[in-house]
Amino acid sequence: MIDEPFSLDDFKLGLKPFHGEVKGVLTRGRLVSGIGNAYADEILYEARPYPFKITAHELVSLHRAVYSVPAKALRVLRERVGDKIHRKVRDFLKVHGKKNDACPRYGNTITAITANRRETNYCRHCQPGSLLDK
Ligand SMILES: [Zn+2]
Repeated sequence: MIDEPFSLDDFKLGLKPFHGEVKGVLTRGRLVSGIGNAYADEILYEARPYPFKITAHELVSLHRAVYSVPAKALRVLRERVGDKIHRKVRDFLKVHGKKNDACPRYGNTITAITANRRETNYCRHCQPGSLLDK
């Protein structure tokens, strides 16, 4: 599902040439392949940056989440669907597809923003920010 892990330094270097929203970088597969829209939301939720912008120190948690979130999901999927891996089981995801549901961390409402015809789900409380900042 995910390529060989990048070291944090390689990850930072790899992200440098990209401008624009973090989610697009994740889903375009230019840096790490195999991350779709749903898992990008989950990774960003785990790492807690505002989904459309990221600070230097958030790169550390993002780097960790890029590998830990899909690995955890894979374990859940193996347990739940065994070899029927083509089945899309997504009910264990925390934010993706959970618009208006309660955030698993503190119970705030999950938000949905549609950009480039894709829906991004995130928690405004855990992932605060605005495109208008700075
Ligand atoms: Zn939250």
